[in-house]
Amino acid sequence: MDCLCKATAEDVRVYAAITTGLVGEVAKRHRCSMLGTAALGRVMTGALLMAANLKNKECLTIKVQGDGPLGKIVADASADGAVRGYIAHPEVELPLTNGKLSVGQGVGRGFISVTRFTGLKEPVTGTCEIFSGEIAEDLTRYLFQSEQTPSGVGLGVLVGKNGEVESAGGFIVQPMPGASEETLSCLENTIATIRPVSAMAKDGFSAWEIASEVLSGFSDIHILSETELAFRCQCSRNRTEEILETLRKEDLERLIEDGQAEVCCDFCGEKYHFTKEELLAIRARIGG
Ligand SMILES: [Zn+2]
Repeated sequence: MDCLCKATAEDVRVYAAITTGLVGEVAKRHRCSMLGTAALGRVMTGALLMAANLKNKECLTIKVQGDGPLGKIVADASADGAVRGYIAHPEVELPLTNGKLSVGQGVGRGFISVTRFTGLKEPVTGTCEIFSGEIAEDLTRYLFQSEQTPSGVGLGVLVGKNGEVESAGGFIVQPMPGASEETLSCLENTIATIRPVSAMAKDGFSAWEIASEVLSGFSDIHILSETELAFRCQCSRNRTEEILETLRKEDLERLIEDGQAEVCCDFCGEKYHFTKEELLAIRARIGG
């Protein structure tokens, strides 16, 4: 089961997640190549981990805008464990680099931004340059540069020979404000030596077991919560109608001439079909 576990130990907190099921579902929906699956899976897992410290109804969006062949990658995640993702060119495949999927090359150079939607105030966006395009390193830098939070981030997606997702998961570990020098060096050591997340996930580790692996040098470990994770898209027929209502008059007119419209959601692939009569009703509603 896909799950996110929050835990603390001494002056450290960790968020760890298993996302094998939801990455597999999204890869299928977007017909991703192995490379596309790894890149999108890492961004979605990173978004879920970063959303973990938001409040209940809050959510965040990670946008990776690189100049590589995969194009733009976007993931929306909420604190209650829902995530959806989009990748501009999911079909792109590249030769392996040292036996590994070339995610950094697929992403390229550019910018990574994180927007938090708290519902109360205007959304807050932070941006930093893509460092390697491998996503975990980029999020580590983002958290340090944009949010002044030193963190260790691990993300992994293991894709089998037939393109199926064998395992996916990740963690974010952070020293709490005022953590001791000892804590910082213990964390550094852990991050340098910990096994890849995809390998732990493949061995059947739960989110909690990954968290305990990250916290292995510490005592006084507590699980704060475990949240079930799932792919979920917020699109609906109603929202799609609202988008049609914002079209320019001549664009709506063209759809009516075509006799129908089909709107496809970029995030989940769901298709919404509108008949001519329905389009005429929309035009009447907006006073066209
Ligand atoms: Zn959708």
